[in-house]
Amino acid sequence: MALHLHNTLSRNVEPFEPLDPDGPVGMYCCGPTVHDFAHIGNFRTFVFADLVRRVLQFRGHEVNHVMNITDVEDKIIRRINETGTPLPEYTAKYESAFLQDLKTLNCLEPHHRPRATEHIPEMLDLIGRLIEKEIAYQAEDGSVYFSIQNYQGCGCNYGRLLNLNFDAMRQGERVSNDEYEKDSVADFALWKARVPEDGDVHWSSPWGDGRPGWHIECSAMSMKLLGNTFDLHLGGEDLIFPHHEDEIAQSEGATGQPFVKLWLHGAHLLVEGKKMSKSLGNFYTLADLLDQGHEGRAIRQLMMSTHYRETFNFTLDGLAGAKTALARIDECIAKLREVGGDEPVDPQAEPIEKFTAALDDDLNISSAWATVFDWVRDTNRRLNEGLSSAEAAAALAAWQKFDTVLAVGKEESTVPADIQAKVEQRTAARAAKDFATADALRDELHAAGWTIEDTPNGPRAKPL
Ligand SMILES: [Zn+2]
Repeated sequence: MALHLHNTLSRNVEPFEPLDPDGPVGMYCCGPTVHDFAHIGNFRTFVFADLVRRVLQFRGHEVNHVMNITDVEDKIIRRINETGTPLPEYTAKYESAFLQDLKTLNCLEPHHRPRATEHIPEMLDLIGRLIEKEIAYQAEDGSVYFSIQNYQGCGCNYGRLLNLNFDAMRQGERVSNDEYEKDSVADFALWKARVPEDGDVHWSSPWGDGRPGWHIECSAMSMKLLGNTFDLHLGGEDLIFPHHEDEIAQSEGATGQPFVKLWLHGAHLLVEGKKMSKSLGNFYTLADLLDQGHEGRAIRQLMMSTHYRETFNFTLDGLAGAKTALARIDECIAKLREVGGDEPVDPQAEPIEKFTAALDDDLNISSAWATVFDWVRDTNRRLNEGLSSAEAAAALAAWQKFDTVLAVGKEESTVPADIQAKVEQRTAARAAKDFATADALRDELHAAGWTIEDTPNGPRAKPL
């Protein structure tokens, strides 16, 4: 079976076929709006995007991963007005905290991280093309809006991700806010004319000073880096309308070409069964959880335990369970490392086949984890029965392959050269029956925080 994914556009699970069989898969994920510290609900989406990227790579695809940084939009302007901080200074703080959090969650760094404020010329170009085609117009308030009526008049269809029924909807005249509900579908702002509340945040344009709307930012940056038509666009399901719908309209309106082949959307996250909110006391940033002593990889494991299209209930009990699960894996891997040789070997075939089949089925992660935990149980049993060095190495290679997708494994602790030298001197002393020297070396190792364990491959240093 080939990799299959659910396309929001077709509402079907489809085989994934890259647009260019020889080139990299173009993948765009809407990045953070850097107006505050990201919360764990945001990170569910980014861990999901990381899973998609890792599965594509696991299936042999090269990926070109783009994640934008939204560093100008309504919320940011509001915050800088409240705090009196200049925009670049304000957003830099939250951008760097966000990138640090991604690392803590073992998310691979995107290949490109375009900032909106650095792509204003591309946005102006796109708006200019829409005006030329009469799909956009400048209104009396000086702002430039996207005309849904004219877009539909060109034979295009607005509302493809949601299947909007225009006849049943109240249509507003136009909307300047970046966020609005689907019952107020209306012409939306591409370029917002400068108003006093914008302070210093404005750029010049053929339509006067102003700033871009949020939706045009993603169209301009994604097409600049991935071309007019690309493979995958990801985001949380809350972005389907209006953000992604508007991205399609702007992009296809300007280019006349299909924008994205496959849209993937991740479901919401609840915390302790409720919508996360500061007033309910169940609102967590990643830093909050790390301060409570939780590990990034356990948070990742928990976030990846449920299928991406299912609402996920994040609980502290669940996090404790993830910690226990990872400890079981760590223990098994540590034993395999003791027994396994260093020679490169092929991984066990059967567990990898099962794991791959689960992921191919629209990223059926629960089934993939079940394969991994069955494998841990089976491996522990075989270790107890006695596993040859080659068998252990093949099992270890299987784990390494699982972990290219899961990314929750603990790094193998590396033994410093001076400690390793003392271990070898002690082994030599014991072989020469010089027990006084051997004991002295053992005491020195203890003092340095190391103990010696006998393994089938000989004595090894372990941190105390
Ligand atoms: Zn976006």
